[in-house]
Amino acid sequence: MSNVNKVVIDFFRRIDYPELSIEELSAKIAEEFEPLAKLLHIGRFTESINAPESILSINGLHHVENIYIAENGVGERPVTYTYITGEKGTVETVFYPEKGYEWNDDEKSEIHFISDMIYNIQGKARMASVIKRLLITDMATGAFNAAGMHMHCEKIKEKNELDKYSLIFLNLKNFKFVNKIAGERQGDMVIRDYARKLIEYIVDGECAARPGGDNFMVLIRKNRERDFLGFIDNISFTVGNDENRQTINLSARVGVYEINSEDTANDAISGASAALGRTKRIGVHNVVRFSRDILMQTIQGNEILNLFTDALRSREFEIYYQPKIRLSDKALCGCEALTRWIRNGKVVPPIDFIPVLENDGSICRLDFYVLETVCADIRRWLDSGIEPVRVSVNFSKMHLNNPELAEHIIDVLKKYDIGSKYIEIELTESSAYEEYGALENLVAKMREYGISTSIDDFGTGYSSLNMLKNLDVDIIKLDKSFLDNLDGNNTNDEVVVRHIVNMVNDLNMKVVAEGVETGEQADLLNNINCSMAQGYFFDKPMPCIDFEKRLSGARVY
Ligand code: C2E
Ligand code: CA
Ligand code: CA
Repeated sequence: MSNVNKVVIDFFRRIDYPELSIEELSAKIAEEFEPLAKLLHIGRFTESINAPESILSINGLHHVENIYIAENGVGERPVTYTYITGEKGTVETVFYPEKGYEWNDDEKSEIHFISDMIYNIQGKARMASVIKRLLITDMATGAFNAAGMHMHCEKIKEKNELDKYSLIFLNLKNFKFVNKIAGERQGDMVIRDYARKLIEYIVDGECAARPGGDNFMVLIRKNRERDFLGFIDNISFTVGNDENRQTINLSARVGVYEINSEDTANDAISGASAALGRTKRIGVHNVVRFSRDILMQTIQGNEILNLFTDALRSREFEIYYQPKIRLSDKALCGCEALTRWIRNGKVVPPIDFIPVLENDGSICRLDFYVLETVCADIRRWLDSGIEPVRVSVNFSKMHLNNPELAEHIIDVLKKYDIGSKYIEIELTESSAYEEYGALENLVAKMREYGISTSIDDFGTGYSSLNMLKNLDVDIIKLDKSFLDNLDGNNTNDEVVVRHIVNMVNDLNMKVVAEGVETGEQADLLNNINCSMAQGYFFDKPMPCIDFEKRLSGARVY
């Protein structure tokens, strides 16, 4: 074997490790290049890489690297070879002779061969890195996906620096509304631009990812966390076409997890996600910090979800009925069905499990279970000659995604052969635009079938007045919070309540005041023409057998 061959073969053996990254490979080439350079009188070897913008490389790649420079100087008349890469980029290799040296044609073709070989070996590394990058990239935005965030956190953890950061989980508010007004294509662009804004904001060590949908994750330095929360509070986009432009402000629900030194990447991600889950549940506050509490609640939450299906099957959920009273004559005029979970002989109140079921969507099964049980009770009353009152059943907003909700409700009534006048559906007022249309549809369909609807907890959401104007419901349930200061001393609250009642009456709907606890409140409400009341002053929610006694009794308070 000639000396040239031996040196060349040695060189390629030394650099051809398939597992090297592109950077490691370049370093390796630089390290091993000298014998080859000496042999072929190469004074300098540079490589410039240009990759176009792509989803995998948002700004493209433009990079010149001096791989080898001889100590005793560089000559003239370099040779240059250009390659087009699979990603439509270019790689250019430039070789200069040693100072004072001039290559003959044989030497030039040897150098050409070496250039080709180096390009091919680098090609393998480039391919491997593209595949690696694909697996951790969200293709819609070019940001990391969840796996990418996880990998990034683990890298920082290896350096023992993860506790310098907080992990922030974001969920855009009302994003479906953007899709609706701007169309899905622009919606997708907004998501992409949102990701870009996050990527532009972050600095070295930080990381932005999109795990999917309208969710984002950001690893941010603790000392920049406040600024970051301010930044995302104020992100706006212009959507629409030339005739009709609209600026939308996108705000987000935010779960923040301050990473501790013992935490793993998984702890950080699940902590932030639990905190975000909590913001969705409490609704009003946009930012929730992780705390030990939340962790406990998540654990209990998981436990509740694990138990739920079995509990439903073994009928651990019992329906309590709370009477509603017509204030003008104090007659029993209806009732509300409220769930209790009887677990190991103890009564678990709804506040302990409804939010968990709501978060997970399981609430829909519970609500239908309640409706069925109520219909079965009404059927039994009718069969034994007891005239029922109208029973209202709570339906969570989670149902609004179900386009067949109205039909399902009607099917249940049919199954028990119950007249529609005996059932009322309570819906909570909604702050989300995307749910509004669905709410309107449901109310309209219910009216078609003669089933009453009511707006629950009226006055606690954002859009109360709009809802009043636009929704064709029968009943408004005035939230208990309005009654707390209603003591006959003509406070502001009294003025507000009076106006709401007047307005609702004018719109041909009726008001049920919730949480009436005193006789004074009941009198005052009656004086301002509030139709009905429900509350501890009259009755607490009671088991079915007790309520049956009310139904069979005088029915007047
Ligand atoms: P809600 O629909 O607003 O129900 C009224 C709540 O106020 C009931 O709480 C009732 O016991 C309570 N309440 C009634 N009168 C008074 C009073 O005079 N003073 C006070 N302090 N409270 C009074 P409960 O039964 O604990 O239910 C809490 C919430 O859980 C309900 O609020 C409702 O949103 C939800 N919930 C209960 N059952 C169901 C169900 O089957 N499905 C769904 N989706 N939600 C349910
Ligand atoms: Ca209710
Ligand atoms: Ca209520």
